[in-house]
Amino acid sequence: MRQTTSALIGLLVSSLVLSSLALPVTTQAQGPRGHQYLLNGQPISQERYQALQMLNQSIPLLQANQNQEAIDLLLQAEQLAPQIAEIHNNLGLAMAKLGKNTEALQELETAKQLKPELAATWLTLGGLYQSQGQVNEAVSTYSEFLTRFPGHKDAGKINSLLAGLKKELANGTIPRLNKQEVNKENYLGELVGHLTRWPQAKLPIKVFITPGTGTPGFVPQYTQVLEESLAMWQQAAKNKVSFKRVDKAADADLVCSWTADAGSFTNRAEAGETTVFTNSLGIVKGTIKVLTVAQVAELPLTINRLRQICLHEIGHALGFGGHTRDPQDMMFFSTRVTDMDRGLSPRDVTSIKLLYSTDRVSAISTDTKLP
Ligand SMILES: [Zn+2]
Repeated sequence: MRQTTSALIGLLVSSLVLSSLALPVTTQAQGPRGHQYLLNGQPISQERYQALQMLNQSIPLLQANQNQEAIDLLLQAEQLAPQIAEIHNNLGLAMAKLGKNTEALQELETAKQLKPELAATWLTLGGLYQSQGQVNEAVSTYSEFLTRFPGHKDAGKINSLLAGLKKELANGTIPRLNKQEVNKENYLGELVGHLTRWPQAKLPIKVFITPGTGTPGFVPQYTQVLEESLAMWQQAAKNKVSFKRVDKAADADLVCSWTADAGSFTNRAEAGETTVFTNSLGIVKGTIKVLTVAQVAELPLTINRLRQICLHEIGHALGFGGHTRDPQDMMFFSTRVTDMDRGLSPRDVTSIKLLYSTDRVSAISTDTKLP
């Protein structure tokens, strides 16, 4: 049968930037009075010196994901020198990574007010809004960043991210809904116009997983995580959709592969990309590509994050052609800032069951409009 439509959709990464400021604080012996404290050769108070030292010490802790240790140190620094924007920025980042969103937002807003020329704050603030589903706030913060810092090294990436968010809003693959209008049980209503499914005759879906050997960043455990993710959706669907591994790509209807090059995606601000080919009966084949390297240095690609990408892209390959605005859902439009082991949400589970329940076939198969 002729293929009529193809849809391509991914998972936007949220930005998060550490104020990578190693300020050159030094001391200098000064006769019998003791020491003089210097920043860039200029004298500063002892409190400020100590606070800046703590700030510098927080950077390797944050890079090593020792977020609570970094917070403990930065809170002391904040007491000694409450006017240093970089301290608030890094506190905001560490709190965001621990899921303390309200506190994180406060710290980042303080940093922004103290030092609007600190680019990192705008990026982290945009990323925090995005990862909470506050799309409009994310769009305006990223836009403001691009206006203020057109020459920043991350400007190109943020431009792609912003374009991706705007495109999804325009296409409706991020729904324009208020929280109140959302169905608590399932999200099929939010994805209307972006739903399809594999026809019964294509089940079980024949899957080929391309070996990742040689792809930078790939570790063998990734294949296992991808297999577990397929099983998780199958189990959620109560086996109404199922997968069967095949040994050759030529025999498969769904081909999964790995890449270390986000530049190979339609939007390079994405962590994975899925293409689905449909005809009047539904999906005929699909491809999933998963990124094996971190997009943002502050958010390393852990097994938790990889699992999220795999589960999300499989959701697209099963027929969810759009996203939700609820950060609890696997089909949420963005990666998260918190590094947690996440499974499918109750809404994911109900939605996949509904999508593959026989009652829904006619309603869904007539709708091949995809972004
Ligand atoms: Zn997606």
